[in-house]
Formats: sequence, C-alpha cells, structure tokens
Amino acid sequence: MSELRFDGRVAVITGAGQGLGRSHALSLAERGAKVVVNDLGGALDGTGASAGPAAEVVELIRKNGGEAAVSTDDVATPEGAQAIVRTAIDTYGRLDIVVNNAGILRDRSFGKMSVEEFDQVLAVHVRGSFLVSRAAFPYLKEQGYGRIVNTSSPAGLFGNFGQANYSTAKMGLVGLTKTLGIEGARAGITANAIAPIAWTRMTSEILPAEFEARFSAERVSALVTFLAHEACETNGEVFSVGGGRIARVFVAEGPGWRQDDHTVEDIRDNWQAILAEQPYLTPTTLGRQATAFMEAML
Ligand code: NAD
Repeated sequence: MSELRFDGRVAVITGAGQGLGRSHALSLAERGAKVVVNDLGGALDGTGASAGPAAEVVELIRKNGGEAAVSTDDVATPEGAQAIVRTAIDTYGRLDIVVNNAGILRDRSFGKMSVEEFDQVLAVHVRGSFLVSRAAFPYLKEQGYGRIVNTSSPAGLFGNFGQANYSTAKMGLVGLTKTLGIEGARAGITANAIAPIAWTRMTSEILPAEFEARFSAERVSALVTFLAHEACETNGEVFSVGGGRIARVFVAEGPGWRQDDHTVEDIRDNWQAILAEQPYLTPTTLGRQATAFMEAML
C-alpha cells in the first residue's frame, strides 16, 4: 500500500505547542507537510502566554528533517487569526490544511458559571475556529482545494457536568463544520470534525493513570492526518476517536409521529412514537431534512 504523503502541502495547526496539536504537527511534518505551529502558550484556562511551546515543536520538527514555522498569535482575535494564516503564505507561499485545535477549559457548575467563563471558552474554540478558517478560506477557494479539521468533543456531543461553556462551544463546532463543508464543497474544500479522547494536560487529572499509553495523542493524530489528506473526500462528518477506536458520530432524526391538528393530549398519548429512534434519517443538509419532513406529510 502506498504511503499517504503531504509533500508540497502546507498546514496550519492551532494550539500545536503541546498535547493533541503538537502530535498532529509532528505527524503531518513527518509525512512531508510544511507546518505552521501556532500556540499562545498559556495555562489551561487560557491565562498567560509563552513563546516556548510552539518554538520547541518547531525545533523538534526541524531536527527530524521537516519544515516548520512558528506562530504565537491568538486564534481568538481577527488580527491573530490573520497573522497565523499570513505566516503560512509569507513563509511557504500557500496553504492547504487548517487544523483548528487550540482550546482552553473554564469548568464550573452551571449555577456558578460566570459570563466571562462562558464567553472566554466560546471565544477560543468557536470564534477562534471561525476566525482562522475565515482567514484561510480565500486562499483555499482560490486554489480550489483545502482540508479543514475542527476539534469538537464528546462533552459537546453528549453533554458533561460542569462544562456548559465547553459543551456549547464544542457542539457549535459541529454546526460550523457542517456549514463550512457545504459552502466549501464546490471549491474542493472539505471540513470534518473530531471528538477526541487523549491523555493531555486537559485530561491527565481526570483519566485513570493506566489510560496514558492507550489514549496517546498519536492515536488521534492518525485520523486527523487522514482527514487532512487529499485521499479523504469525506465532508461534513464528525468522528469519535481515541484509544485506537474511530467511529462516525451522526446527527439523526427519528421517523417521527404525525397527526394533523393534534392536541397537547395527543402529543402526550403518542410520546413514545415521538421518542422512537428507528428507522432514523441522517440528512446531510437542512434542505434534505426539510425534504424528508415534507415527504412525511404526504
Ligand atoms: P492542551 O491544553 O494540551 O492543548 C491546547 C493548546 O491550545 C495549548 O497548547 C494552548 O496553549 C493552546 N491555546 C489555547 N488558547 C489558545 C489561543 N487563544 N490561541 C492559540 N493557542 C491557544 O489540550 P489538548 O487536550 O491537546 O486539547 C486540544 C484540543 O482537543 C482542544 O480543542 C480540546 O478542547 C480538544 N479535546 C481534547 C480532549 C482530550 O481528551 N484531550 C477531548 C476532547 C476535546
């Protein structure tokens, strides 16, 4: 089987100074991509900044014989996002791949969560992914090719105590991914998302110690690397990944229950039919969901 290579391709990876992003950067660089390693270098809650983590990853890639450029810009500001993309264009003259990975945590139970804690988490995850993709989009569109990989989370897909801000952000990324996929398709741009689980500073205090080797970041990066390759034409999908397992996660609509002019009591009496899951639909656009909805009314 031929090896999947990225020679001639240029990738931007946000939050690549450590954890999952670092592993994605090493994986793509090892396969020939030129990589912009972006990282603000702050604490887990997003406070502070340091040029160290991004510079260390760049140094490691170069030591391994690869090519990499450093960016310590903030994904959450329009200027920072523009600067990240400009680093790719100014250094390598093109951009093919964007991996939106930068993230922070500000966990707090819902009743105690401050507006700032909510806003800051959405700013890095959702606004940051929007801004960096937006800065990259004209270049990808112009060349008629691009691969965008966003980073969602099981916390967003399924909910998690103490993470109202993070869950909102991570499900928001599913919406962004699906619409980006639809709007980019005509220009050869795909957008997919991962919902990973890996042993990083974000999880090392909540995962059991024996998970460290099994849930290595490298096991997530293999999927990100595939999604970033031209051989992968899948678009608008979300994948649960970690510990060696990869699964498609899809948004489905149950068969539904229908009765014209129904009353509140009719809804109560047919609640189990409304909750039914089988046979479900997995529409890939709002238009397809609307068509299915209309067909059910005939
Ligand atoms: P991590 O803390 O090791 O890495 C996140 C990186 O993002 C850090 O290096 C940080 O400096 C950088 N960053 C934060 N804010 C930034 C900003 N404004 N601009 C640029 N860089 C910034 O954590 P990780 O586990 O590697 O997380 C990577 C991504 O994966 C995050 O989006 C996270 O939410 C997601 N995720 C991780 C897990 C897991 O199990 N580790 C699970 C689900 C989702």
